[in-house]
Amino acid sequence: MPAIIIDGRSIALKVREEARVRAAALRGRGIIPCLAVILVGEDPASISYVTGKEKALAEAGMEGRDIRLPESAGEGELLSLIGKLNEDKSVHGILVQLPLPPHISEDRVITAIDPAKDVDGFHPVSVGNMVLGRRCFIPCTPNGVLRLLRETGINTQGSRAVVLGRSAIVGKPLSILLARREVNATVTLCHTGTKNLGEITRQAEILIAACGKPGMVSADMIKPGAAVIDVGVNRISDPSKKSGFRLAGDVDFRAVREKAGWITPVPGGVGPMTIAMLMLNVVEAAEVWV
Ligand code: NAP
Repeated sequence: MPAIIIDGRSIALKVREEARVRAAALRGRGIIPCLAVILVGEDPASISYVTGKEKALAEAGMEGRDIRLPESAGEGELLSLIGKLNEDKSVHGILVQLPLPPHISEDRVITAIDPAKDVDGFHPVSVGNMVLGRRCFIPCTPNGVLRLLRETGINTQGSRAVVLGRSAIVGKPLSILLARREVNATVTLCHTGTKNLGEITRQAEILIAACGKPGMVSADMIKPGAAVIDVGVNRISDPSKKSGFRLAGDVDFRAVREKAGWITPVPGGVGPMTIAMLMLNVVEAAEVWV
């Protein structure tokens, strides 16, 4: 039997509704949750991510402060802008859309954000708190994956989870979150140095792909019945599309679907959850002020 397709869009709508209700309660107390979104340059993918975030904020009854800087903006200019937003009491969250142009240090920029406003959860203080299991903003994509698993009723307790990719924004935090006591998965984190990748992935009851390699997870890498979560978002050139490209995940969806128990599509799986979890983080940042 083909896998159950996990509908990330509908689960994300539920999460966004939760954010909307909590934002309405704040507005009733005179607080309008506000996220400052900074975009440097004009990368088309980044513009579309930022537009999606602003639309979601508006739909949740929150304010999006849209700040655009030219590609030529200097690091000093960006750092001083962040300093001002840190002090601005009407701004509850600050998000700098990545990647930044190469002449700006992402590390220095992320570290300049007040951890209390770090709704992306990328600041070293947030990362440290996450590792220690303390209260903090959890990065939106890994948190979205956990929420998808929970909402779908996939058992994580005692499950064997394999994460492909060790980036600071997806794979690494996911490996830590999956190993938390309340999730209780046994985690293996794979990367380009991993030997016999298929042998490892075939043991996974939960397989999470975050490599940025279109279709690299093939059906022969899957344990029958596994939950396969595809984080990958890859643009594939496709002249038949108006945009000139189509989106593909890291998983060979058609083949893996025949073997897995659950699978997320791309688009429509993890992507919508990322924005939804961001909405919750912004509400949470504003609730501190109540
Ligand atoms: P990244 O920084 O490019 O890191 C990719 C990771 O995958 C690295 O750790 C790399 O290993 C590993 N890797 C690459 N090829 C591999 C292979 N053949 N075998 C095993 N490991 C391999 O990736 P990222 O920023 O986490 O993004 C990953 C994907 O998720 C991208 O497609 C991105 O667009 C997508 N993404 C989606 C969302 C969403 O909201 N849905 C959010 C963020 C990212 P090494 O460390 O050894 O190089």
